[in-house]
Amino acid sequence: RTVYLNGSFVPEGDATVSIFDRGLLFADAVYEVCSVLDGRIIDQQAHLARLERSLAEMAIAHDVAATDWASVLATLIERNGLSEGTIYMQVSRGAADRDFLFPAPGTPATVFAFTQPRALVANPMAERGMRIITRPDRRWGRRDIKTVQLLYASMMKMEAKAAGVDDVWLAEGDVITEGTSQNVCIITPQGHLVTRDLGHHILPGVTRLSLIKIARASGITIEERPFTIAEAQGAAEAFVTSASLFVMPVVEIDGLKVGDGLPGIETMALRAAYIDHAREPR
Ligand code: PLP
Repeated sequence: RTVYLNGSFVPEGDATVSIFDRGLLFADAVYEVCSVLDGRIIDQQAHLARLERSLAEMAIAHDVAATDWASVLATLIERNGLSEGTIYMQVSRGAADRDFLFPAPGTPATVFAFTQPRALVANPMAERGMRIITRPDRRWGRRDIKTVQLLYASMMKMEAKAAGVDDVWLAEGDVITEGTSQNVCIITPQGHLVTRDLGHHILPGVTRLSLIKIARASGITIEERPFTIAEAQGAAEAFVTSASLFVMPVVEIDGLKVGDGLPGIETMALRAAYIDHAREPR
């Protein structure tokens, strides 16, 4: 596999970073994951805009506009012959002798990206639906910034695996924030789409935003507001959104079936509409 590191395209085995990199020592780095379908990136502009925002919130000096990300991503797709899969991008504050304080201005950021081939449309989980459990949201208070501080999410995914389910939804008290790596949505018995309102408590998902636009265009009423675990369990349908899962039905929450326990009809229509949007020529 050919990867990108600090301005060069190199074989993955040659891509090495310093042990002093602040991404390693302090999780002082931000990232993006975007999906590739038919060799083209879905919502590229929105992902790069969020990368720029994450960098600004962390005061990491890397000019997203100055790096020709569009051509970096296009080159990775081409060199790796990627037709369907994901691209991971990371920018850390760079390498400096270990110190809690940020290094002197001028320390170059560490920038890299790599591809991962993966079947996104033909995901068997879309046919059976996800079973999830809820757990307390014990992440830090700026979940709107896409940092590589992913240990809690990783531990929760291990808990899901141990419990024999597909993933975890995180909650503050009874109120759901988001999934370990997805935003969450429910369809109420009235047919409204409810998703958590934005703020410091969740990541502003690129897929969430595209889906809201798609749903609104098809006449669905959107409610961006907090909702409880009980409301989700009593919803007509439930699903998650993320760059790699697209729109993925959820059929069970903490052992209780959502609706009839099968992927929701509205959810599957939204998944199809999202895939159409992803395949639109850009
Ligand atoms: N929430 C969290 C915590 C995430 O890690 C992700 C994506 O990885 C999302 C939500 C979904 O965001 P997006 O649709 O931009 O992939």
